[in-house]
Amino acid sequence: MTDHLQTLKCIKSDVLSLWVSSNEEQASFNGYFYSFKQCLKKHLKIENAAFLSFESNSLIPIEEVASLTIETKLNAVSWLMVEASFYQQKVVKIPYILKEKQAYSTMTDMVLFQAEGKNPIGVLLVEATESWTDFMTSSYGEECIEILTKVLQTMKDNLELKINEDQYRKLYNVTDLFHSTMDIDVILENVLKNIKDNFPGFNVELILSNDQDRHTTIDIKLFDYLAERPATVEAFVSGELTTELASDLDCRLLNAPIKGRQAIYGILQVSAPTTYLFSTTEKDFVRMLAQASGNALENAKLYHQSHRLVSDLQLINETSHRLNMRIDVYEMLLFLQKQLLKSFQPMEVCFAFKKNDTFEVSEASTTLFSSEAGQIYIKHVEQHFAHTDDPLFIADFSRLTPKPIDYRSIMAIPILMEEEINGFSIVLHKEPYFFSFDSFKLMQSLIHHSSLALANSILRTQLQEMVDLDHLTKLYARSYLDQFVEKSLEYDQSGMFLLIDIDNFKRVNDTYGHQVGDNILVQIAVQLKKTIGDRGICARWGGEEMSVYVPNIVEKEALKLAAAIVEVIPKATDPQVTISAGLIMWDERERPAFQSVFLHADTALYEAKNSGKNRFCIHNGSFQTNS
Ligand code: GH3
Ligand code: MG
Ligand code: MG
Repeated sequence: MTDHLQTLKCIKSDVLSLWVSSNEEQASFNGYFYSFKQCLKKHLKIENAAFLSFESNSLIPIEEVASLTIETKLNAVSWLMVEASFYQQKVVKIPYILKEKQAYSTMTDMVLFQAEGKNPIGVLLVEATESWTDFMTSSYGEECIEILTKVLQTMKDNLELKINEDQYRKLYNVTDLFHSTMDIDVILENVLKNIKDNFPGFNVELILSNDQDRHTTIDIKLFDYLAERPATVEAFVSGELTTELASDLDCRLLNAPIKGRQAIYGILQVSAPTTYLFSTTEKDFVRMLAQASGNALENAKLYHQSHRLVSDLQLINETSHRLNMRIDVYEMLLFLQKQLLKSFQPMEVCFAFKKNDTFEVSEASTTLFSSEAGQIYIKHVEQHFAHTDDPLFIADFSRLTPKPIDYRSIMAIPILMEEEINGFSIVLHKEPYFFSFDSFKLMQSLIHHSSLALANSILRTQLQEMVDLDHLTKLYARSYLDQFVEKSLEYDQSGMFLLIDIDNFKRVNDTYGHQVGDNILVQIAVQLKKTIGDRGICARWGGEEMSVYVPNIVEKEALKLAAAIVEVIPKATDPQVTISAGLIMWDERERPAFQSVFLHADTALYEAKNSGKNRFCIHNGSFQTNS
């Protein structure tokens, strides 16, 4: 009979010397197990043995723990499949499910190493020999397993510490780097590099939310709530690590939230082969790396944001300062257009202002808005501002309208005057999601700070118009006419001036009263404006006399126009009146002096009155010229 006690002592001594000698160098179970196998062979004649290490609910052959390919994981076994076998004993016959695997087909017994109240350390498979069975069934078998369990547990704890230390060192180094940079690219690049170093051969992806700096050179994916997998969305929303067995992609996904103190910026996704199981330490590593990068990203973002805020303030300051120096609304808007183009790179810019309850597009807008194609955007913005003062931000206009549209990103800001919407500005870009929310806020500030300067300028224009227009007829006042004619005489190539006087107006007044007389003046004014259109200007000369000035008109046209006016007035008035008029025409050959134009027109008018009224006469004498 073999001395089992002696065997136990020998095993104990071997294990102890193994423990003492190799404590420092051994970096994995592998080395220990090799020596342990020698010991089993020596004392119990075991030739065939395998050790399955317990990793996240799986039993993985220790030779394979460190290797990562699908093939080598074929001999892994789920813990759940063998757990029940150890219900009463630690040394049992191996179940059929294990025997089925070719690698274990010769094995007969298995031993569980599990310390009280702890996760299993692993399972030893052996092809039993007589010595083995003898010893294990003896009273020393159990004691031997107990001792081995203690040793293995200590080894495992040590190993874990070592791996942890290794990972913490890596994390420390990368965090140190993160702290020293504000460059988002460097941060993202290093996250990827570290994961790839740690999991060679695995696919790694950075899925970042939309509000990131869009100009990164790192290959990232944009986080899309609608398209991401539920486990990825869950990690993003909850801020917790998630895993998913994605059979459709034939991989196992690990999603780690890239989390800062203020927000979650995206997901770090590692995809492993379906047979691969991430250990707790590995998960911790990915989680902590993602978190470190989240904090670094947040710091960098805040840093850039504060820089941007300063430059935004400078922009607003510069704009309102410049605007306050300008007088002309058009010129102001052109400047504002330039600022908007510079700051947000839109493809189109529009300014529209309220005039008689409708919005009129300013000429300082880009050409799209004076064409038919631009109307859909103006209409949409107009409808929006019919209900609210709130600025409008549209990331993808095509989702809001069934009509085919070219421009999908829209920002529209109201231009308020005394808290009323007096106009608005629109910027467009063809690409959806082109404008960031920061641009939206900046554009609001820019328009808001320009509103006052614009309002002042518009009011000034209105005031000027009030001075320039005759109150009763809404024709230009005499002073405006004078300026207009004076300029035309200097710069234009030709022109006509028609001085009009109503025939027998005193009688009309006497017959119908002054009120009716006034009414006739208005009727004539309306008709004159209609006839002249924007070819020239009509003015109230004074009393019941009016005038028409048309620049750059050939003689033939001028005569036709004068005749048409004389002819149309009786038809346009009720009670009917006729007019007499004096016509002056000039061209470059002889630029008349300013005063002589009026003087000669008066003479011609006098002629018309004296030759029977209801007609016009032309001044034929030569002008007095300036030269
Ligand atoms: P003639 O054909 O020679 O021009 O005869 P007339 O009666 O029109 O004479 P004149 O041109 O001198 O007419 C001046 C009159 O025009 C005097 C005044 O009653 C009338 N008048 C001038 N300004 C106004 C005005 O603002 N409203 C009205 N209702 N009448 C005016
Ligand atoms: Mg008169
Ligand atoms: Mg008259």
